[in-house]
Amino acid sequence: MKIIKTIEEMHKLKNELQMKNQSLGFVPTMGYLHDGHRKLIKEAKSLNEKVIVSIFVNPLQFNQSSDFDNYPSDVERDENILKDDGVDFLFYPSADEMYPGPLAIQMNVVRRTDSLCGVSRPGHFEGVVTVLTKLFNIIQPNDVYFGVKDAQQVAVVDALIEDFNFDINLYPVPTVRETDGLAMSSRNVNLEPKEREEAKYIYQALLYGQQYIQSHKWTRTDVIHEVKEFLNANITGDIDYIDCLSFPELNDEISENHDIIIAVAVYYKKARLIDNIILNHQGRIKFGSE
Ligand code: AMP
Repeated sequence: MKIIKTIEEMHKLKNELQMKNQSLGFVPTMGYLHDGHRKLIKEAKSLNEKVIVSIFVNPLQFNQSSDFDNYPSDVERDENILKDDGVDFLFYPSADEMYPGPLAIQMNVVRRTDSLCGVSRPGHFEGVVTVLTKLFNIIQPNDVYFGVKDAQQVAVVDALIEDFNFDINLYPVPTVRETDGLAMSSRNVNLEPKEREEAKYIYQALLYGQQYIQSHKWTRTDVIHEVKEFLNANITGDIDYIDCLSFPELNDEISENHDIIIAVAVYYKKARLIDNIILNHQGRIKFGSE
């Protein structure tokens, strides 16, 4: 696996790949890799001749410095995982390489962000679209792979690609879970044992919401109420949000005419966990197995 640390090296590599006419699949990450990331890599490998993974903990998308400071990192371990998985290139730039000085231009996301993490993490999606615009221009991949675990991110990246005419195919990849149902996340290592034990109820709460949808009318406030009751009965973490919205537009009119998302965020002492399920018009889970 070739490790690329500068934008100049990356441009050279891209020119080489273009001359050979080789397709490039891109998996952006913040490192501390787990099986969720590896699923994205597997998908990318199955559809492209070459695969590149980036590891960059983007300071711009952290609205709380404690979250940035606590973000786990082990690049040596990550490199071994990437080699084992047959990744061709790792793009691992420094913060100075990505942001050599203050930006003169700021991006503003005006749709799909007035709910969920868009509200509880002000500036987060602006940071995400900024770094992705840079990474898309630097790497110029054919395909990009994102986890449905961060479903609002998928919705925003979908809009970014559409609005700014990136010639890139977006592939959403189903959420990979631990055996008890907890969505894999780099932040899970920051859970205390008791928090980790009860965190399984987050996914169960989403499935409870799904059951409610399937057996009752599609009433947003009722779904939120039911999921909230379930969570309050089973977890000690602080609920940041519970919502049920259309997907990918993320507005609050839900009906059987389009996909919907049930999404939850919970604060624990040193980690904020998010999870969601996306349901089709029959209330069946999309992007995953039931
Ligand atoms: P991160 O390193 O947390 O920024 O995640 C990098 C990519 O991996 C994003 O597209 C995430 O949505 C995706 N991802 C994170 N956790 C999971 C998971 N449990 N299953 C599938 N994809 C995931």
